[in-house]
Amino acid sequence: FLVEGEELRVSATAGVAVFPVDAQNAEALMANAEAALNSAKSQNVPLLFYGPEMNAQAAESLRMENRLKRALENDELALWYQPKIDVRTGKLTGFEALMRWMDPQAGMISPAKFIPIMEQTGLILDAGNWALSQVARDCTTWRDAAKTALRIAVNVSPLQLRAKEFVANVIDAADSIEKTGGLLDLEITESVIMENVDAGSPKLQTVRGLGTHIYIDDFGTGYSSLAYIARLPIYALKIDRSFVVGMTQSEDARGIVNSVVSLAHALKLRVVAEGVETEVQADLLRKMACDEFQGYLFGKPVPATDVPAIMRKFS
Ligand code: C2E
Ligand code: CA
Ligand code: CA
Repeated sequence: FLVEGEELRVSATAGVAVFPVDAQNAEALMANAEAALNSAKSQNVPLLFYGPEMNAQAAESLRMENRLKRALENDELALWYQPKIDVRTGKLTGFEALMRWMDPQAGMISPAKFIPIMEQTGLILDAGNWALSQVARDCTTWRDAAKTALRIAVNVSPLQLRAKEFVANVIDAADSIEKTGGLLDLEITESVIMENVDAGSPKLQTVRGLGTHIYIDDFGTGYSSLAYIARLPIYALKIDRSFVVGMTQSEDARGIVNSVVSLAHALKLRVVAEGVETEVQADLLRKMACDEFQGYLFGKPVPATDVPAIMRKFS
């Protein structure tokens, strides 16, 4: 449609349920058409016919959403901590906080399983704030073991970054973490930073002003504008694990890692390699002048109670 000289594009998405195979009355027919519509929207296709598995899926996500809500209320979430190591000195530079769900029935559930559902349902806002506040509580338990302030990086979801309260929440968290002898850092995925440059940049400037280091997570998997990277208050790039894994297999991956390190250094940023599992990988990264290591070779994520032991190991 042409409206006052502006071209407006309209698109439609449809879900179809057919009488009498899909349902025997109008109400159930409409409900099943809606289930098909929701599936079409989530798969980003214009049209889908109803199938019984759609209701099963919807019921499963709803069950999961309710269990996650309960998990938040019942304090079933925990933060585990993975060390980051300085390549040159071999000393600890800090930890990354990684969320775990201790489900009373299923045991420990990985964030790869529940974070996407939290993102879809908006629960990640509460969970993300819980994580920001949990760091200070964990810090108090190991403050006697820490000789200097420990840097703890928390992962930030796109919804959190967009929220109005984001900066206020980070200021609160940074404040209580400092009182318990720690320092707050943030990790934000590359694609999320780049999609929110205009709105996000002033927020990140404020956060950086608190002394919080900002890491671009999963670097290399999205599309970064170099002009933006230079302008944003970023402390370090984290090279995605896929490139570290690929490094020993292909010259291309090695070339990419090498270029990211050079790029980061040219922009006066540090580079962290994630997912370092072997000495061969570590050697290659050392030769490329990478600044920090993170990965199973140096330590897997551990519960808060094990943090003092890791501090001693790398002191
Ligand atoms: P991420 O931020 O890229 O975190 C790194 C993931 O790689 C972690 O998985 C970590 O345990 C794993 N990892 C570290 N070193 C190695 C290694 O040497 N080998 C292998 N195979 N894996 C390694 P995890 O803990 O399962 O977390 C998965 C993702 O879930 C994270 O990826 C992050 O995107 C998300 N996540 C975790 N905690 C939070 C959180 O509190 N908030 C938000 N928004 N996302 C979170
Ligand atoms: Ca991360
Ligand atoms: Ca990653």
